[in-house]
Amino acid sequence: DSTLRLHVRVARLGTRFVLLLAEDRTEAHRLDEVRRDFVANISHELKTPIASVSLLAEALDQAADEPEQVRRFAGRLSVEATRLAHITSEVIELSRLQARDALRPDRLVRVDKVIAAAVDQNRVVAGGKQVEVAVRASTKAEVYGDQALLIVAVHNLIANAIAYSNPGGRVGVGAKVDGDVVEIAVTDQGIGIEADELERVFERFYRVDQARSRNTGGSGLGLSIVKHTVQNHGGDVRVWSQPGRGSTFMIRLPRAEAAIEPGSDDGRAT
Ligand code: ADP
Repeated sequence: DSTLRLHVRVARLGTRFVLLLAEDRTEAHRLDEVRRDFVANISHELKTPIASVSLLAEALDQAADEPEQVRRFAGRLSVEATRLAHITSEVIELSRLQARDALRPDRLVRVDKVIAAAVDQNRVVAGGKQVEVAVRASTKAEVYGDQALLIVAVHNLIANAIAYSNPGGRVGVGAKVDGDVVEIAVTDQGIGIEADELERVFERFYRVDQARSRNTGGSGLGLSIVKHTVQNHGGDVRVWSQPGRGSTFMIRLPRAEAAIEPGSDDGRAT
């Protein structure tokens, strides 16, 4: 009787082990696919600017004795070089984020400081496009995390809001505490996003309108970086949009006080 029980237990454990192995292999397979896609995407994305650079170099060579042409081609070369540098640094950033497990962040980061830095970094571009960026509400609440990464995430949302606004448009940035969560929202009155595209904008290299995005210098990686950063911080990112009316992107992060001192008197209703 006890041998039978033992057999059953061993069989059960065996099944569980095989299932675990199978799950592991599926996950490994999925990651492998993700990696292969990523490399294919990168090669594709880099091909266009690299081709432009070699064409422009050739054109420069042929226009050697026409200073006006030389200046024009040199200017375009510089634009393409900047784009290549931008894509490369985003690819590196994203692969770093993807390679890392969920952060076990031990640093307290003040949300209002993240927002101020991200807004500041976008000031010049906003001014150039005559888009007004205003911080409507802020909070001194803290989250656990990596300040530099969080600034990049909020920066990307603001940069997009400006890029997809019409000249003269307004971008609002706000943050507030909602229970155990800190919400950071970036709202624009720009071109908006169609409902069936909303899910996809967080995918790597995904752009709603390839040509238009290319003109705005986008790589299609910005939101993917936002998503991974926020997920690594134990949060999520949401989007609401109306084509022609504008969009709101919201980052939600676990609030630090709530994480370390459950039930402590921190001014919240219990
Ligand atoms: P990109 O570098 O092209 O901006 P992102 O990953 O940041 O890449 O965004 C992906 C796509 O989502 C963009 O190409 C754009 O089509 C769309 N998008 C992102 N933010 C906005 C926004 N605020 N308003 C309208 N469309 C947006």
